[in-house]
Amino acid sequence: MSNTSGVERYVELASKAAERRAQDIAKIKKCKFDTIAVHGMYSMNESLNFNQGSIIEPIYMSSSQAYRDSDEMEAALAYMVPTWCYSRIGNPSMYYFEQTLALLEGYGADIETSCCATSSGMAAIASATDPFLAVDPDKPDRKINFVTTCQLYGGTFQQFAIRKAQERGLDCRWVIDSTDLGEWESKIDENTRFVYGEMPSNPGQAFFDLDAVIKLAHSRGAPVIIDNTVGSPALLRPLTRGADIVIQSVTKSLTSSGFGVAGAVISRKDIVSNFGCDEMKADFAMYIKTLPNRDNGQSISPMNSILSLNDIRTLRSKMDMFSRNTLTVARFLSEHKGIESVSYLGLENHPLHELASKYMFLVDAEHDPQYGKPVNRYGHLMSLNVKGGAQAARDMFDGLQRIWRATDLGRIKSVATIPAISTHSQQGEEGRVMANIQPNLIRLCVGGEHPADVIADLDQALETVGGKISVQVPYEYSIGGASGATTAK
Ligand SMILES: *Cc1c(COP(=O)(O)O)cnc(C)c1O
Repeated sequence: MSNTSGVERYVELASKAAERRAQDIAKIKKCKFDTIAVHGMYSMNESLNFNQGSIIEPIYMSSSQAYRDSDEMEAALAYMVPTWCYSRIGNPSMYYFEQTLALLEGYGADIETSCCATSSGMAAIASATDPFLAVDPDKPDRKINFVTTCQLYGGTFQQFAIRKAQERGLDCRWVIDSTDLGEWESKIDENTRFVYGEMPSNPGQAFFDLDAVIKLAHSRGAPVIIDNTVGSPALLRPLTRGADIVIQSVTKSLTSSGFGVAGAVISRKDIVSNFGCDEMKADFAMYIKTLPNRDNGQSISPMNSILSLNDIRTLRSKMDMFSRNTLTVARFLSEHKGIESVSYLGLENHPLHELASKYMFLVDAEHDPQYGKPVNRYGHLMSLNVKGGAQAARDMFDGLQRIWRATDLGRIKSVATIPAISTHSQQGEEGRVMANIQPNLIRLCVGGEHPADVIADLDQALETVGGKISVQVPYEYSIGGASGATTAK
């Protein structure tokens, strides 16, 4: 048998495997969100025939995959057959995670999606944006730009303002008021390589009319990239509304247990883009996985893949619980005398409440016997401004006894931070003013505790503002006791 025919045999076998995979995808896509989150692409066939019957997706810590012979190796390394090859590129544990996330971000629409998981959210943002910023060999001198909301996670702001604009001379165009379509329109042109937005933004909860921005960007041939970290696919699925690429800091809502750092790029097939090779436009996530990310090396680890996957199984019910708890806490704080203002998209008085209500729904609420109809949910991210300025905010923050002081969000445990001195300290006063981040702003992400206990902690912390000394009592006495007695007022 000639060498070529040996390779062909593997290609033929692979096409049968691809058919099986397509059938499995078609089957799982008929299921509801929770079922997809629980099972993903890990079917009984996958378990019994390829994974020793393990009912949970195994963690393949192996660095690489062995091949039966040189023909299989040749076919695999030429990407002619499905292969994972080497764990910088792919791995079965990564695959199970990526497939599940792709299905969830595409849930509810008749679209095909794919996913490339990364070592962090920042790696996801770099790998989703950099391919669009390459030099065009036909027009190497063309001055290119990208357009982005200025209300961004601090790390993203730095990546855009320093790594891309300052260090590489790229034209980064900030949209200051993302609710102003005219501003978007004035900044997007035929040299715009991509349009980027974060919604709801961290920490400001900025929100814009996604449908309108997509329409505008696409009319000029620019793809739309959305950071969907805060909402998660349980509340918002930009791809199903026509966005081209979604990025996730998997670290946050998706891995609420807090077990590690990870990210993901999820894309729909055939993205809109003036720029890029056909391969890149046809299946962006698969393209970056097999080419740029292979060469740059920012893939997720198999361990993190399964830890995150394990959390995602209960994403919908957790996001529902976090949202309900956050609303309860936000209502309490809006009536507290020590608070200057409370910002939460779920509060009727939030200026963007109505707009957010057009987009943020608990997935499948209409199929949930508890609700039976569409239900708005606004997530776990809120913020508050403490009366009395920066020092008062620090005092209150320092007084928290249950809510963790940490630069984190989307946790099963409530966490709070002061963005001006933490997540958003690097971007400087000017950048913070632009993004509306005041020094007395506390970002609070409410977790899965009973909201009465979260409220009690906030209430006692607010008592410490203005010089009241908090009395330290021994640990045994501080459990329950006074904290349990306080309720919403
Ligand atoms: C945390 C975060 C990121 C960055 O993700 P890492 O996993 O920390 O790298 C990006 N976007 C948003 C909205 C975030 O909250």
